[in-house]
Amino acid sequence: MKIVLLGAPGVGKGTQAAVLSKRLNILVISTGNILREALKSGSDMGKKAKSFIDQGQLVPDEVVTGIVKEKISQDDCKNGYILDGFPRTISQAEALRDMHIKIDKVIDINVSDSVIYERMTGRRVCMSCGSTYNINTAGRRPKVDNTCDKCADTLVKRTDDSKETVKHRLEVYRNQTEPLVNYYKETGKLVIINGERPPEEITEKILEEIRN
Ligand code: ADP
Repeated sequence: MKIVLLGAPGVGKGTQAAVLSKRLNILVISTGNILREALKSGSDMGKKAKSFIDQGQLVPDEVVTGIVKEKISQDDCKNGYILDGFPRTISQAEALRDMHIKIDKVIDINVSDSVIYERMTGRRVCMSCGSTYNINTAGRRPKVDNTCDKCADTLVKRTDDSKETVKHRLEVYRNQTEPLVNYYKETGKLVIINGERPPEEITEKILEEIRN
């Protein structure tokens, strides 16, 4: 099973990807997470990506396409995977098509701009294990302020979740990523999901669509 998760920043792609990964027993390939790891480790790729990420811009297509190409060729991707945050441009979608990958479903999670804005500015991430929380959403807050429920390390705000950068990331999404909705509509694989319902309901709806 190979799934693409589409949707603006902050619609809950990461949260859904983690749950779906367990339910379907397939890996998540999150280009955002891979880039953030590269940034932390100070690798050449991390250095290259840093200024783009901090400014809320997209990292160049060839960098992310290279990441995905390498990842999907590994043994642990044999059963399939969930692409979270890739493709994000038409050119990335074309690169994926040219890799001769048969995508089963493309899930577009839809959320209104005002909700996205609130979610992104409230998002907090654990410095150690990467678990995410949201101080603006009931049921997604940590039990103890600023502390990870799972590993007790400190929660931080992603540097690209500041108000200004969020605004820019949404513009980038509208201009560069949203055209993918039409691109995938034509393939007949697109499913649009209302992302403003409770996360558990969204997961069930996605699973239902996948099984169809
Ligand atoms: P979100 O979906 O909340 O924006 P991600 O973690 O997916 O967060 O991405 C964070 C940043 O990483 C993006 O703003 C962008 O700079 C970079 N990035 C991630 N995936 C891609 C991609 N497919 N193409 C270009 N840049 C990407």
